Amino acid sequence: MFARVDQDALKDLEDPDLSDERRLALMFIAAVRHLYRSVAPAAFVSRAAPGDRDAALACVNCDTDLRSPALYCSDRCRDVAKHIRYIRKIIHDERITVPDLQEAIGIRLLYIGSGGAGGPVPIGASATDADAARMHAERDRILGDMAFRVAAPTPLRACDDWRNWETRQREFKLARRGVIEARIGSVAAE
Ligand SMILES: [Zn+2]
Repeated sequence: MFARVDQDALKDLEDPDLSDERRLALMFIAAVRHLYRSVAPAAFVSRAAPGDRDAALACVNCDTDLRSPALYCSDRCRDVAKHIRYIRKIIHDERITVPDLQEAIGIRLLYIGSGGAGGPVPIGASATDADAARMHAERDRILGDMAFRVAAPTPLRACDDWRNWETRQREFKLARRGVIEARIGSVAAE
């Protein structure tokens, strides 16, 4: 699925006038391509199975226990999942080679990698080298996890599945409402 990306896009990494945003997007795409080729399909472990995870009311993106019918624990998790679906989709339809879309992807990756909504504060004047190193490590961890999920031949989580998420998220919400109502019912019966 990355044949055209090789030819059309990654050579632009050598362009000295490349924007930081597009450079990040191209490096992300290169990482995805590398994972897609080097990781055996069976090693992409699916975490998309519903069932127990519905009952646990966990964040669909990171498994944090929510104790509420919400799908995500944070705006950041919503952003990460939305962006994974989007990149998987445009790799599928080959629009990943369009420079403007790469620029847009880079802008989102920078935003998510810098903490996004509710994430760590930006590096300010008082930040130490240790703060900066920690933030870079955190960014690499988040973007690395995203690259792995984008590269997976089949979606690793239900929220990574651009074809079916619209339907699946309704099922998740209904199941969660059911869990909450059952809990309220069992408390009321005591
Ligand atoms: Zn989460």
